[in-house]
Amino acid sequence: MKAMFMALMVFFSSNSVHAAERALLKGSLIQGSLVTGKVAPGSTINFHKKTVRVSPDGDFILGFGRNAKLTQSIEILDPNGFTYTQDIKLKKRTYKITHIDGLPGRKVTPNPNDVKRIKADNAGIGRVRKLDTQTQDFLVGFQWPTLGRISGVYGSQRVLNGKPRSPHNGVDIAAPKGSAVLATATGTVALVHQDMFYSGKTVMIDHGHGLSSVYIHMSKILVKQGQLITKGEAIGAVGMTGRATGPHLHWGISLFRTHLDPMLIVTGKTNVKKAQ
Ligand SMILES: [Zn+2]
Repeated sequence: MKAMFMALMVFFSSNSVHAAERALLKGSLIQGSLVTGKVAPGSTINFHKKTVRVSPDGDFILGFGRNAKLTQSIEILDPNGFTYTQDIKLKKRTYKITHIDGLPGRKVTPNPNDVKRIKADNAGIGRVRKLDTQTQDFLVGFQWPTLGRISGVYGSQRVLNGKPRSPHNGVDIAAPKGSAVLATATGTVALVHQDMFYSGKTVMIDHGHGLSSVYIHMSKILVKQGQLITKGEAIGAVGMTGRATGPHLHWGISLFRTHLDPMLIVTGKTNVKKAQ
């Protein structure tokens, strides 16, 4: 009788809608953020009807885009076969409108040949953003890739030469041409391109579980595709190749196709001079 009572207690507590949080989440719960989570090893996590990769130690990551819904939930299947739903409430952000003038007309309204090139560039970028490698390089944390003034922030609505264009999906750091660009975290170089239409000299690094970083407009690239890179290692130099009005590094972080705000992910903000 006692054993049956205990079994019932376990059954009810495990299925309770008020069960304690099963996934421990770390990170800002706000639009544009990356959240790292921990669950019991062997758990399965479903998010937006997809299964999220969980490491053998129970580590996983979630990303929330610029306009992510403010109420989200994950479904957790624990190793004993019980299912839990955990709600996640996000804070809403407001974004700036940025006007950039003086760009060459072709870089705002490309011609048909340029469009072909852009499609090929995007296919390469798209391949990297589909990767779901099993490494957990993201666990080392993220650092600023260069020292400079922040000249563009994530999420701002952009008006280029008077024409509305898609929102800015990374952070721009203005720095003198030739300044070192460092890997924001440990990872594997997943893409090297010497001349993309918009982004010029471009490097992408895969940090595992679908998380990648991108470094564009560089004047020089120091790494090769497939190379293993340690956080803080030099990968190139600041430039203004592609669509840029002055030397700066555009730095982006994405979880699969979702662009995240690098400034919410990086630690050690003192590395960058304040905007004037
Ligand atoms: Zn940019």
